[in-house]
Amino acid sequence: MYKSIIIGTGPAGLTAAIYLARANMNPLVIEGPQPGGQLTTTTEVENFPGFPEGIMGPELMDNMRQQAERFGAEFRTGWVNSVDLSNRPFKLQVEGLGELVTETLILSTGATAKYLGIPGEQDNVGRGVSTCATCDGFFFRGKEIVVVGGGDSALEEANFLTRFASKVTLVHRRQELRASKIMQDRARTNDKVEFALNRTPLEVVTNEVGVTGIKVLNNATGEEEVIEASGVFVAIGHHPNTGFLKGQITTDENGYIVVNPGTSETNIPGVFACGDVQDTRYRQAITAAGSGCMAAIDCEKYMESLEHAAVLK
Ligand code: NAP
Repeated sequence: MYKSIIIGTGPAGLTAAIYLARANMNPLVIEGPQPGGQLTTTTEVENFPGFPEGIMGPELMDNMRQQAERFGAEFRTGWVNSVDLSNRPFKLQVEGLGELVTETLILSTGATAKYLGIPGEQDNVGRGVSTCATCDGFFFRGKEIVVVGGGDSALEEANFLTRFASKVTLVHRRQELRASKIMQDRARTNDKVEFALNRTPLEVVTNEVGVTGIKVLNNATGEEEVIEASGVFVAIGHHPNTGFLKGQITTDENGYIVVNPGTSETNIPGVFACGDVQDTRYRQAITAAGSGCMAAIDCEKYMESLEHAAVLK
């Protein structure tokens, strides 16, 4: 039996692993098919403190992993099919590893940005196609950018990107935007934002240098158009990676794990959540890492309270 298992190896899970390993909790970290999480799909990370020249996303994650291993965290690759959180110790059914049993569990499985699924999109992720304006906006100074989506995220990203871009065109598949009125008003009064509504994205257009625009179908005229841009930001939502929990833990209506405010505690004592799987607001590597630290400390304190209770018995 493990004292602690961490599922997920983004900045949240790896930071939790560093802290738990240094606290002699010998955590087992289960890595899924995308070790390192979303940061491995970005190129340069310029906003993680401590790297004045920036650092490549995969390198940052590799460094965190090495740091966790240095203090004794164990890593194993597997896909968690299901968990049984009805009683402690908790049981995990892991593809390739069988059943694993643990006193405590840290959930850091992250969230996955939704993509459009159109030609040219996946081939250019990190090379002109992005799902994170805060991460990548800076690379498009003075350039024209397209943002796809009609919700609050898209409008927020469009406004944010005008700090860098010469022009931001918001492409949305319907005539009406889904975003809140205040977000819409902000975008509409921003001189740098243009709207290409009622346009269905068809293809990310590239040349030998990189992204040059997006081909869309004008739903009103039935004609195809190309909107020129050096960057295409896809902001059509995220989905949290919580399917394997199968309703055993409290989540919000979109599937994000609910934690007690200011902590990493879920509704199940001994189960903690950190990173994007419980964060719909910040979604940054540094906030994920911070919440991973919180989860490790909460977990350590919980184990201490169990040991204390056992001594008193
Ligand atoms: P969202 O509200 O679900 O909006 C997703 C948008 O993407 C919709 O406009 C949708 O179009 C479009 N879309 C989805 N799939 C598409 C596809 N395959 N092709 C083209 N367009 C597609 O997601 P979100 O904007 O990420 O927001 C998620 C939640 O976070 C919301 O509750 C939002 O209010 C909240 N949020 C709040 C703030 C804030 O308050 N500062 C900021 C960001 C997010 P349709 O409209 O046609 O369905």
